[in-house]
Amino acid sequence: MKNGYSSYISQLAKDIQPSGIRKFFDLAASMEGVISLGVGEPDFVTPWNIREATILSLEQGITSYTANPGLLELRQEICKYLNNRFSVEYNPKDQVIVTVGASQAIDLAFRAILNQGEEVLIVEPAFVAYAPLVALAGGKPVPVSTSPDNGFKVTPEQIESAITEKTKAILLCSPNNPTGSMLTREDLTELAKIVEKHDLIVVSDEIYAELSYDETFTSFAAIDGMYERTILINGFSKGFAMTGWRLGFLAAPVEFVEVMLKIYQYTTMCAPHMLQIGAIEALRNTYHEVEEMRKSYRRRRNFMVQALNEIGLDCHVPGGAFYVFPSIRSTGLSSEQFAEELLMAEKVAVVPGNVFGESGEGYVRCSYATSMQQLQEALKRMQRFVQSRKMVLHGKL
Ligand code: PMP
Repeated sequence: MKNGYSSYISQLAKDIQPSGIRKFFDLAASMEGVISLGVGEPDFVTPWNIREATILSLEQGITSYTANPGLLELRQEICKYLNNRFSVEYNPKDQVIVTVGASQAIDLAFRAILNQGEEVLIVEPAFVAYAPLVALAGGKPVPVSTSPDNGFKVTPEQIESAITEKTKAILLCSPNNPTGSMLTREDLTELAKIVEKHDLIVVSDEIYAELSYDETFTSFAAIDGMYERTILINGFSKGFAMTGWRLGFLAAPVEFVEVMLKIYQYTTMCAPHMLQIGAIEALRNTYHEVEEMRKSYRRRRNFMVQALNEIGLDCHVPGGAFYVFPSIRSTGLSSEQFAEELLMAEKVAVVPGNVFGESGEGYVRCSYATSMQQLQEALKRMQRFVQSRKMVLHGKL
């Protein structure tokens, strides 16, 4: 190693920045008595029937590989689920791949469609993985900023003004992480016109579809003319409280799936067999539990929005996911300062909005997937913090 390790590391990998969420989460984990509103995962344990089905499969000695795209029985259940819930029809034989989390499905989608330098529009604030995954696939992530004036919804005009001759695809995520904002059928129909006009592809991250509180969720693939252009991403992590299982899926036109499967068979072979058996059970018999979890998140969302507005942090009402995204501008702090000082002063961990893109500056993301008791205590602490900041701002301290 004459010149140290640096010369052995690829430039693409060097250019990727570590996730800003993890940085804060690790800091919070090293302190005692912290209430974390930081990491985006359900506070529920996976429903028992799903765990039991997996335990039984292990007792029966089911430990082999499955077919590359996953068990046919699971793909059939996925297709039934997509059809029943969202009115989109896919053929289980050749239009679905069971992946290792939605994360891997997104990775596969970009690798399958991008040539060097082709651009993907990413509606920001956005989930932290999109831009690095586009870059690792050789593409160029192009941010499209949204603002709270429009409930953090992207408009067709914003999309159109970011399109160049190199634009290949748009990444849409509704309900959104981190803003919780949700695109209605009408919004999607308007966006579809631009997609059609510029002959683009949409990677539609629908991982929070089950966590929609006010409006019926609409899949982008269900919009007229968009089925052919959509790679639909979904999974079990959020709606079914199965983050640690690492199970997701994608559905798309056969031509896309064939290519993604080619990559998948070499990188992964298949998702774990016994967990796929749990996933079959999840899709068949968990309707009631999913509904109860949804109701519980909805109650907590309503509490958070009201409480944050009351303490002087303006917060729009997010239609889905389990995040609120209040403005912290009234405190005179940047997002990073707010998150750091709140953690140090009151031991509440939130995520600075700027880690989700430039347009997230001035906001923080709070996940409300934690107990009501914890949320109430966190809000008390935040109120104290905001008040003391305002005293400093007004020169009273
Ligand atoms: N998409 C979004 C918008 C997410 O928030 C997350 C998880 N935070 C994922 C995808 C990844 O989900 P999975 O656990 O299925 O990989």
